[in-house]
Amino acid sequence: MLDLSKGKFTKEELINILDINEPEELQILFDTAQSIRRNMQGNKIFAYGFVYFTTFCRNNCNFCYYRKSNDIKRYRKTVEEILETSKTLIDSGVNLIDLTMGEDPEYHREEFDTVVAIIKTIKNQYETPVMISPGVVDNKIVDKLAEAGADWYALYQETHNRELFKKLRHGQDYDQRMNAKLYAKQRGMLIEEGLLAGVGESNEDIADSLMTMGEIGASQVRVMSFVPQEGSPMEKCKTPDRLEEMKIIALMRIMYPHALIPASLDVDGISGLKDRINAGANLITSIIPPKSGFMGVAQNTMDVDEGGRTVEEAKIILAEMGLRIASRDEYKAYISEDLK
Ligand code: SF4
Repeated sequence: MLDLSKGKFTKEELINILDINEPEELQILFDTAQSIRRNMQGNKIFAYGFVYFTTFCRNNCNFCYYRKSNDIKRYRKTVEEILETSKTLIDSGVNLIDLTMGEDPEYHREEFDTVVAIIKTIKNQYETPVMISPGVVDNKIVDKLAEAGADWYALYQETHNRELFKKLRHGQDYDQRMNAKLYAKQRGMLIEEGLLAGVGESNEDIADSLMTMGEIGASQVRVMSFVPQEGSPMEKCKTPDRLEEMKIIALMRIMYPHALIPASLDVDGISGLKDRINAGANLITSIIPPKSGFMGVAQNTMDVDEGGRTVEEAKIILAEMGLRIASRDEYKAYISEDLK
């Protein structure tokens, strides 16, 4: 077994770690990741509210339920609905509002003026940090989002293998996507990068992704297991064994001790929370208010109406693990001191 405590690995070492399957070695991997998380932030876990405010999209990503060609019911929420849901989430105890959208042509047509107004309200009136996940936008729009006060720009390549990218994000440009993210960072926003597990990638591809995330200076790094979506070209592909996602989370934690690493409720609902935290995640994402009519992404309805994806539910599980949800002030201090 490699010395995991050093935190820096060559590509070959990363591939070797991704290959391990012996229970004792896996335990060392997860224990190392957990102890790093504990050293960095004690018993605190952060929590993000998820507001997926438009499911219209001009793109045709092959893994996605909301791809343009999928004949599904879509929604575009009003400003009032978006703000009301954001406020409900904030009052329930989330640390940040993640405003997520498909690449909705309507918002591109109006150059994101509505989104800018929403960001300003959440930042100034609700005094809450904002992450914007708008897909690829041009630099002029990034300027507007940064000036409105958005703290984060989230944009996932999903893979850093250009051939695989072409298959996953059909008809889209790898460099344009990467450059939008880099420009947001240059404008002072924190950036989130992400990868999908189980979409035909090799361990070498994963190692490349892990290294790229550090090279581009991503402060939040996420991995999610692929979940097949009805009506999409990848509908018949299998969802991967979750061990791959857990190993990647653990490696991210070991390589990037300060990073925010999500345990997304979007993949396995609330029942998947514990394993991801135990692998080294320090942040719960995809918290959605019950019966709000807002969707998730990979599992668009799982646990939502039943109230499974709430701060309350997460708190119960965290308490059993000796952990707690951080306050908004603790989160603000973390992103202004530890990350910036
Ligand atoms: S992943 Fe995002 S950009 Fe791609 S089709 Fe889905 S909503 Fe659109």
